[in-house]
Amino acid sequence: MIDYKLYIPGPVNVSKETYQAMSSPVMGHRSPDFVELYQKCQPSLQKLFETKDPVFLATSSAWGVMEGAIRNLCQKKVLCCMCGAFSDKWLNVAKRAGKNADPLQVEWGQNIDPAELKSCLETGEYDLVTLVHNETSCGMMNPLKEIMSVLREFPDVISVIDTVSSFSVVSIPKDDWGIDVILTGSQKALAMPPGLALFSVSERAFQRAEQVAGRGYYFDFLEFRSNHTKGMTPSTPVIPLIHALNYTLKKIMDEGVPNRHKRHDHLNQLVHQWVKSKGFELLPKPEFASKSLTCVRNNLNIDVGGFVKTLREEKKISIDGGYGKIKGKTFRISNMGDETVDSINHLISNMDEVLSSFLPA
Ligand SMILES: *Cc1c(COP(=O)(O)O)cnc(C)c1O
Repeated sequence: MIDYKLYIPGPVNVSKETYQAMSSPVMGHRSPDFVELYQKCQPSLQKLFETKDPVFLATSSAWGVMEGAIRNLCQKKVLCCMCGAFSDKWLNVAKRAGKNADPLQVEWGQNIDPAELKSCLETGEYDLVTLVHNETSCGMMNPLKEIMSVLREFPDVISVIDTVSSFSVVSIPKDDWGIDVILTGSQKALAMPPGLALFSVSERAFQRAEQVAGRGYYFDFLEFRSNHTKGMTPSTPVIPLIHALNYTLKKIMDEGVPNRHKRHDHLNQLVHQWVKSKGFELLPKPEFASKSLTCVRNNLNIDVGGFVKTLREEKKISIDGGYGKIKGKTFRISNMGDETVDSINHLISNMDEVLSSFLPA
């Protein structure tokens, strides 16, 4: 097996220590040992989520909770803010769940405009809004603070915010900004293997869920709440990942949350500087560029596929050659998780070596 170093925007590299933590023994998920493990994670989770509400653990990828939120919270109609692959897909998922749903669509790489969102909500048609904070497909980070201040003007509209690729990279004060549902997954910035989704739900959102029929069982928010009071999950959870979470949270608290944010910001700057120095541009406007990853616009018209393949085969480095309809027109580099100045410099020097043969003569 070849050990590639991953710089794709998820899954990201998982440390040996995290894998070791996963090999702690499983226990009964109704046992005092499990309750202790579950409850040990809560204070750090609440600190990271910047909330007083409970933080729930679902054994699924992030999409489980993204779909679950729609099933739990939409009575009238959902407005899906769409600016890239993940946010676009959420509309489709809402419709598949049998809900009325409308798009608020902007071009991939553009941000959602709070003023435009406001005029949509003023129609009074919507009781739920979905938003991807950091659109991973485009490396674009939406102006969440401004968007949340619009949403707070509409007390009957519940907000569901996907922070899958921004959680723990930047501060997202759930309670202060009035976010109703915030969710993330284990395999992005938390640098754990895939399989665990983490989310927190406001009191307002629970009140809504209580009135919504067809919530199902597996992602029923009320099941999560009642089990949480006992230090448990509704069904048997992925215990090895909860061991990994416990280890990861300790590491994050040891580093210090503000230090973690600063580290990501700095590493992101290093990649941005490289992009500029080569004559490339970012896909989003610089002020909305993600701090978790860099989506490079292929304005130099290089053979992105060849560049990615050569990095992979000759340098054992994996970057992403563009998502969906912008494959080849963009490429993406992650600085999430445990990356350091050394590991990003390692990437940059290898990209430099490989890139020269792909640039126009
Ligand atoms: C990766 C990602 C998802 C999907 O996560 P899964 O864990 O594959 O379900 C959703 N939203 C964003 C922004 C992502 O980056």
